[in-house]
Amino acid sequence: MIQPSTLSPITFSGFCKHFPSSTKAEAYAICTALLICPPRAKVNIYTYSLCCINTFQTITQRLVTPRRQLKIPNYNIWFIIAKIIAVNSLTVTLHKVKAHSGNVHNDKANFLAKAGLTSIHSIELNYYTTNSVLKQASFHQQIDWSMTEEFFKYNLHDRPTSHKLTKFRAWQRKMVNNLLPTMDILYRRYPTLFKDKRTCWTCDQHEETNDSLWLCSVNLEILCPHIVQFIQDLKTDIRQTCDYGDSLLEQELNNNSIFKFFLQLRGNLPLPTTNSIFYLTARQIITHDFSYIFREKYKHKKTLHNKILSKFYELTQLIKRIIWKPRNDTFKKWKVAQWITKHSYKQYRRKTKKTRSHTDHPQQHKNEEPTTRYHFSNVYRNTDFQFYQIAFFRSL
Ligand SMILES: [Zn+2]
Repeated sequence: MIQPSTLSPITFSGFCKHFPSSTKAEAYAICTALLICPPRAKVNIYTYSLCCINTFQTITQRLVTPRRQLKIPNYNIWFIIAKIIAVNSLTVTLHKVKAHSGNVHNDKANFLAKAGLTSIHSIELNYYTTNSVLKQASFHQQIDWSMTEEFFKYNLHDRPTSHKLTKFRAWQRKMVNNLLPTMDILYRRYPTLFKDKRTCWTCDQHEETNDSLWLCSVNLEILCPHIVQFIQDLKTDIRQTCDYGDSLLEQELNNNSIFKFFLQLRGNLPLPTTNSIFYLTARQIITHDFSYIFREKYKHKKTLHNKILSKFYELTQLIKRIIWKPRNDTFKKWKVAQWITKHSYKQYRRKTKKTRSHTDHPQQHKNEEPTTRYHFSNVYRNTDFQFYQIAFFRSL
């Protein structure tokens, strides 16, 4: 319980979904209580859950490594708790109270917990913000996961390993994880090198991100005739190779949500967004909308799968060739003009590493009370940005 500055005590009750347990409910209760605390508040939480108190102490100990922290049950809730504490500079102390001992506040908490059980409202704490588009699409059953999985093993070349295949795999992984080195990511990594150029290389109208690259109106305009040609070729190819009737093929392709935008007259349809099937296609995800074109047209499963994979490969490579390649060429020319080379990145990293080593362990830590901030900020940095760092080192 928190000593509120309001006259009447604040109460709240809710329920948690997905593998609920008493400890998880306690952790959520702590989390929701901390959410409404003002910055720099001193918070005393009274709980009968010794497990929660122990976990809290474990997770706030600086010596616990990120690897061990990830082994703690419900670590995601505890990470959120730690983040709230760090961001608001809270001083939190957990006290143990005996369960069912007639403590008025504890009884009230029990009463609220029971009320929360039948509540129609649930609070969703979204710790993982990455790839939320894919999660949403997966939730709406738009993604053909089995074909997407096959596509991530797809090898067009006759050899099991090759330079081309490695490049293709790297491309697939970058695309699906939104890790293409677009200007927003480059600026985040090397602020001084890229502070003057962060906008789209085609239209110069918006910040270049992994999303905006595929949704830029000018890029889509350029892509349009190529997609129309692809549809024509696809139609001819299916007609020549299919085992069963293709009477509805024309209609299926015209109404397909991936191609619809490109086949309609300009201005008739709104521009694709991150919720569009075209966006998922550009990110190397095979959707049911795509595989549906080929279903019921081929007798053998293997032929069907090969057809889907090869045509999807063709389509995604086309999008890459038309949008990414010219963009990359312009970027390279700009880098030459700005005297930015591989050496510049190395030099920048070395310089920031040096300055970091001076500032990362300031003397104030020695005098400070043991707080969770420093260590947790490291955990967040690792979980949020480790993929970006890997991508950078590989792509530059
Ligand atoms: Zn643009």
